[in-house]
Amino acid sequence: MKLNVIPVPKQVELNGGQTRVYKAELCLVPPSTREAAAAVRAFSGYALKLGIKMKTVRGDGAIRVVLNKNGRFRKEGYRINIGKRRVEIAAADSTGLNRALATLLQLAEPAEGGKCIALPECRIKDYADNEYRGMMVDLARYWHPFKYLLSYVDMCWYYKVSVLHLHFTDDQSYTLPSRLYPKLSTPGRSYTFDELTELETYAYERGVQLLPEIDVPGHNTGFTVAYPELFGNKGIICQHRDSVSAVAALFGELCETFPRSKCIHIGGDEANLKKWLDCPDCMAYAETLGIDTKRESPDVICDKLYLNFILRMAEAVRTKGRTPIVWEGFPKAANASVPKYITVMSWENFYQVTPDLLAGGFRIINCSWNPMYIVAPDVKWTPGEVNDWSVYKWRPVHPGSPYIGRSYECEPTPAVLGGQLLAWGDRMPGTYKDNIDEGVTAERALLAERLPYLAQNTWNSVAKVEYNELAPCAGARGAELDKLIN
Ligand SMILES: [Zn+2]
Repeated sequence: MKLNVIPVPKQVELNGGQTRVYKAELCLVPPSTREAAAAVRAFSGYALKLGIKMKTVRGDGAIRVVLNKNGRFRKEGYRINIGKRRVEIAAADSTGLNRALATLLQLAEPAEGGKCIALPECRIKDYADNEYRGMMVDLARYWHPFKYLLSYVDMCWYYKVSVLHLHFTDDQSYTLPSRLYPKLSTPGRSYTFDELTELETYAYERGVQLLPEIDVPGHNTGFTVAYPELFGNKGIICQHRDSVSAVAALFGELCETFPRSKCIHIGGDEANLKKWLDCPDCMAYAETLGIDTKRESPDVICDKLYLNFILRMAEAVRTKGRTPIVWEGFPKAANASVPKYITVMSWENFYQVTPDLLAGGFRIINCSWNPMYIVAPDVKWTPGEVNDWSVYKWRPVHPGSPYIGRSYECEPTPAVLGGQLLAWGDRMPGTYKDNIDEGVTAERALLAERLPYLAQNTWNSVAKVEYNELAPCAGARGAELDKLIN
């Protein structure tokens, strides 16, 4: 017999594996923290959706939750000991505790009308291999009502996915609120500060990091529509002192909106930089940066302006104590001059190839187009392909990639922080029109179907589990997750 837990725990000892019934009582053993109490409350909420009425008690509850800061736990590690009479859960902090509680929920069944909890007798020791285990949702190309954002956090919590990446802005809409530049927000398609604060707390209590993104300098025609006097009218953010400072200030505001996000995504992909060349303001600014616009080639001028912009945004984020993340879009020539505190999402193996990024000393996140991209409803790879992927393997789709038609695989290295699934909204407006609930739930189902394999391959990036072995368990987990998010 094995445990149907995804991701599969590193060490499991079944003490006979007999199912035991315990009072549905959680006791948070002192000294504890406010975060640990919040994690226990979140667990009780999830358990209730599965028909288990947990009580939080003082003294000797059936399930004892112990925070042990000095205990020897590896990354996000935890221990669960389900004995004959009682259950003990231990972790060093609330993040480890959330991981333990997700395992506990996957093991649990209601008993005696929900007053008790049935669990298999066992001992579990577990920890994460990769710190970055991510899921991205494109909120800009298709409107996702706020209630769905909370459900993405639930999905992440359930599978121990550590990062929820929110692509808030693109040409189609700007879904963030702003006090500095309120006209940027798309009417009827933007979140409020209160909603984002609620989301932030909800995610924090569940041990899920939010990675908010404002994609600049391309992918953001809204800037030039809302404030042409500041950002120009060329569809790409103009480069001059005031526009660069304004965008840097927006990142400062984003850091305040998400005070506990360790990383901030500043975009940096697929910008048509050539538009800067025929703008006198941009060229005048380039001269102030020491770029000789008369003698340098157009490519070099654009690359240098682009690099200056990205560095300013990265610095704006870094001065707030956060790590900036970019797409692989910066020019190859700039590889040496881009500071290595910037983490790079390697997705296309075209603008930059993975071996160059690794040789350049960057820390990277695997966002390989194949099989990690989903463009609902019809562009996707199978869950089996996600299972066969690893954080060290890329399958480019761009015809210009040197690895087209084959894959690139690197040696295991800590420079690869992990990987993520990404749901893009390009085709959703055309497919689902204004039937927002249908569109969002269809996309969410595609994510939910693949998430167990992403989780398995990032929590356990070395030990492989065959698809046929994991699939039945993933089916059962998916059915349970449905109860949590609907
Ligand atoms: Zn300009």
